[in-house]
Order: sequence, then structure tokens, then C-alpha cells
Amino acid sequence: MTRRFEGGRLVIASHNAGKVREIAELLAPLGAEVVSAADLNLPEPEETGATFAENAALKARAAALVSGHPALADDSGLAVVALNGAPGIHSARYAKQAGGFEPAMEKLWRSLAPHTDKSAYFVCALAIAWPDGHCDLYEGRVDGQLVWPLRGRNGFGFDPIFQPSSHDLTFGEMDPAAKHAISHRADAFRKLVASAFAA
Ligand code: IMP
Repeated sequence: MTRRFEGGRLVIASHNAGKVREIAELLAPLGAEVVSAADLNLPEPEETGATFAENAALKARAAALVSGHPALADDSGLAVVALNGAPGIHSARYAKQAGGFEPAMEKLWRSLAPHTDKSAYFVCALAIAWPDGHCDLYEGRVDGQLVWPLRGRNGFGFDPIFQPSSHDLTFGEMDPAAKHAISHRADAFRKLVASAFAA
């Protein structure tokens, strides 16, 4: 059984200020008093999980346990089908090691050269955990394909190389509202809100 959030303080288990602001805006109308892990000086656990869900869960559980309040964490990334899901949970590290997102996208496109299948998907796992250890997971996904050359300067990360299925624009070309309507993160949040925040 998934558990409902009954209002009050909710810790966002992220040290990324932009992400915390975005999540706070989404959850404010739903009775959540949002505080960030950084505000509470919570340590950032190492992401040792083998899946998006495991990493989201370990971050949410750690924050709930230390803070004594329910905590929400996310983990996301880009998975390329012909590359067996890479870079996947290592998406952020892949970009860092390549020296930024532009070189990372170029490297990814080169790795795909031998493959005709250019399909890929973004995943977002959201975990909400309570201090007693209960944890629920919600996963969102958006399917599409990688394209070259890169197109668009909106969004962030791998957006300019990703064209969602049934759309002519890449995430990098879409205006933010259009991306947010179909993104993996929006999909995961819809599931979380329907289950844990429903009136
Ligand atoms: P994290 O979930 O904050 O660890 O971020 C994972 C990484 O996945 C980001 O640094 C980006 O590289 C990539 N990523 C996740 N979501 C998106 C998205 O919506 N657009 C582009 N890149 C994304």
C-alpha cells in the first residue's frame, strides 16, 4: 500500500537549489511545507544504487531518517537503447567526465554511429520516505530518439539531442511549458501527486 502525505514539513533530499525551487512550487498548493536537505545541513549520501529507483530511495530514506520528517528525492537520466541503457544512472558523471554536456552529447552520438537504432528515453524516479523506513516509488519516462546535429538551447543537460516520440522538436527547442507537459519528471510527479497527495 502506498502511503499518503498528511501535510506539514517535507524535506526535499537535494542540494540542487533549482531542483528544490521547482519541486517546492509544484507541491506548495498541496499542503507541503518544503525545506531542502541543504537548509537542514543534511549530508549527501553516495549514490551507490544500481537503478534510478534505488538511488532515489536511498537519498529519500537517509534524509527522512536524519531529519525525522517525510522526505522526497529524485534521480533521473538518459538511457540509450542500443547502448544497453547507458549512460543511465551515470548521466551526470558521463557529462562531467566528457567536460560538459556538448562534448558528452558528441561522444554519445559517436558511440551510436555503428547502430541504426537511435531510440532513447529519459527516466525520473521519485521516492518519498518516512522516518519509520516506509518508502514509495514513482517512476516517469518519456520515449524518443537521439538526433544530430544538436538542436535548441532551451532546457538543460541532454535536451538538445533528444527528440520525444511524435514530436518534431527536440527538448532543447521546445518551450519549457511544452517540455514540462510531457517530460519524465512531469510523468513521475503526476503519479506521486495522484497517489500520495490526492484529496
Ligand atoms: P540528477 O537526477 O540530478 O542526478 O541528474 C541526472 C542527469 O540526467 C542530469 O545531470 C542530466 O545529465 C540528465 N537529465 C535528467 N533529466 C534531464 C532532462 O530533463 N533533460 C536533460 N538532461 C536530463
